[in-house]
Amino acid sequence: MKIINSIQEITEISRALRLDNKTIGFVPTMGALHKGHLTLMQRAKDENDILIVSVFVNPIQFNNPEDLEKYPRDIDADSNKLESIGCDYLFYPKAEEVYAQEPTEEFNFGNLDKVMEGEQRPGHFRGVAIIVSRLFNWINPNKAYFGEKDFQQLTIIKAMVNNLDLGVEIVACPIVREEDGLAMSSRNQRLSTSAREIAPRINAILRKSYSLSENISISQIKSFVINEFKLVKDFELEYFEIVDAKTLEPITQRTENGVVGCVALWLDGVRLIDVIRYY
Ligand code: AMP
Repeated sequence: MKIINSIQEITEISRALRLDNKTIGFVPTMGALHKGHLTLMQRAKDENDILIVSVFVNPIQFNNPEDLEKYPRDIDADSNKLESIGCDYLFYPKAEEVYAQEPTEEFNFGNLDKVMEGEQRPGHFRGVAIIVSRLFNWINPNKAYFGEKDFQQLTIIKAMVNNLDLGVEIVACPIVREEDGLAMSSRNQRLSTSAREIAPRINAILRKSYSLSENISISQIKSFVINEFKLVKDFELEYFEIVDAKTLEPITQRTENGVVGCVALWLDGVRLIDVIRYY
């Protein structure tokens, strides 16, 4: 595996690969890689000639400086993991080069970035869209792989690729979980032992609501879930919303696009998210 730091170099490599008719699968990440990330990468490897992974803790998508500072970083462990799965290129740029100038890109995502994460984290999705559109521009992948764990992000990236006609196929990958149901996340390693024991209740509550969902209304599911989260004293619920899987509009009736429940909460000073598909 080659480790590339410079934007010009990765751009030249990708151009040469495309000229050589090689297909490029790309997985953007913020590092601290776990099995969830590696599952996306394995799929990208299987479906393309070349795998490029980026590791970049994108400062402009963090609205909370403490969250940015505490975000786990371990590039040596990451590059070992990438090497062992047969990644071809690790792109590991420096923020000083990526943001040499103040970014000026603006996007219009309509409602998609106004709700849930967008409401709680002002500027977050603009930061995500800026880095992902730039990475797509430099790397010019055939396919890029995103996890359904960040469901709103995935929806916004799909909209961005459509609106700007970026010509990248976005591949949505299912959430990879620990055996106890906790969605894998780089942030999990920051949980204390006792918080780690409580954390699987997030998914347990969502699954319980799923099992009730055939017999109760969407408003009742929402009240049930919010109430269950409030009963766990260590959870500090930020939001739980049940939304249309395409428009992300909060809904009270089933829609043909599908219905997902999205949660964000704080546990032990760590912000965790999870998603469940109801219908
Ligand atoms: P991150 O490094 O957290 O920004 O994640 C990079 C990519 O990996 C994003 O597309 C995430 O949605 C995806 N991802 C992170 N955790 C998981 C997981 N547990 N299952 C599936 N995809 C994931």
